[in-house]
Amino acid sequence: MTDIDAIIIGAGVIGLATARALAMRGLSVIILESGKEFGSATSSRNSEVIHAGLYYPAGSLKARLCVEGKARLYAFCQSHGVAHRRCGKLIVATSDEEVAMLATLHEKGKANGCNDLELIDARQALLLEPALACVAALISPSTGIIDSHGYMLALLGDAQDHGAVLALKAPFEKAEAMGNGFRVYVGGTEPTSLTCRLLINAAGLVAPMVARKIEGLPEDMIPQARFAKGSYFSLAGKSPFSRLIYPAPHTHGLGVHLTLDLAGQARFGPDVEWVDTIDYAVDPRRMEGFGDAIRRYWPGLPDNALIPAYSGIRPKISGPDEPAMDFRIDGPETHGLAGLVNLFGIESPGLTASLAIADEVAARLEA
Ligand SMILES: Cc1cc2nc3c(=O)[nH]c(=O)nc-3n(C[C@H](O)[C@H](O)[C@H](O)COP(=O)(O)OP(=O)(O)OC[C@H]3O[C@@H](n4cnc5c(N)ncnc54)[C@H](O)[C@@H]3O)c2cc1C
Repeated sequence: MTDIDAIIIGAGVIGLATARALAMRGLSVIILESGKEFGSATSSRNSEVIHAGLYYPAGSLKARLCVEGKARLYAFCQSHGVAHRRCGKLIVATSDEEVAMLATLHEKGKANGCNDLELIDARQALLLEPALACVAALISPSTGIIDSHGYMLALLGDAQDHGAVLALKAPFEKAEAMGNGFRVYVGGTEPTSLTCRLLINAAGLVAPMVARKIEGLPEDMIPQARFAKGSYFSLAGKSPFSRLIYPAPHTHGLGVHLTLDLAGQARFGPDVEWVDTIDYAVDPRRMEGFGDAIRRYWPGLPDNALIPAYSGIRPKISGPDEPAMDFRIDGPETHGLAGLVNLFGIESPGLTASLAIADEVAARLEA
């Protein structure tokens, strides 16, 4: 017998969704969070976009879990009163080379099950968004925006209704493998240890560092953590667009795009800056690159209209010169330790996919 069925490390959107999924299956669950509040790391430093699922290679976890997760997330928002809006998005081509990229993206999207995408010409795009400059666009009607904090609060509410406990200022320190589970050491003001049958590492940016503190986990099963920072700048004044506007995608991010929050405020970002440490300060000098990128699809961007807003850091597991990696949801079938799941590289579309990721974790643990 262990003290508890499952311990989850990290109360971001993935830890909270997983806690909910396991608690609703009747398991006793504790979520350990090192911070003083839940969801204050990457889960509250993102674009808050419900992605359609068109960017990812067919058959990848990102593709499958994004498309499944999107449908489930819209249903969850409806049933739990979480603020959201299915506003749609336009991915725009500003050169003939980019038109070919949109056609490829269209095919990729269809292969992933996004059957509502449509390629439109410049005239049709301008009818929808008169401020836009483009030669063609791909419209994604199922893309939307969500109040990520309201969503996490609803996940926590469901988990707690089913008996899950959130422990704040309770950092995971290390775990020792026992025959039938783990002994987990928790730091903070009242250090303690607990035993559990199932251990889930949902520590986001530092998941690889946390994994190194799990006794018995082979080192070659742990990727190197890489950080790709993305800064956002808000637009002073009214948004010229009613849909999200994205440029043709780049290798490590989706390009400097325009997203809207639920109040209609527009912001641009995130860019890509490889960093070694977690520092969320926004350097106003990065704004220089933004003006040129934005004016390619919105020539009307006024001078001095951008205000430094916030930043987030992508929890990468591949470097700048390597191809982007898929999500890693490493269960016992991968590393051989019964009862353990490590979540590595849960970058975008992790927010969209969170409900589907949680079920995937439960499945890997046969919970
Ligand atoms: C710039 C940016 C834009 C994005 N935009 C989107 C988007 O529009 N749509 C989308 O679907 N996805 C988006 N994403 C991805 C999405 O935000 C992430 O996939 C998701 O938030 C990851 O959640 P998480 O729970 O894994 O990590 P986190 O939110 O980082 O949570 C991990 C938690 O673990 C805690 N922790 C760390 N170490 C310990 C420890 N030792 N003990 C206890 N707790 C610990 C941390 O304090 C933290 O609260 C974006 C990401 C970034 C960076």
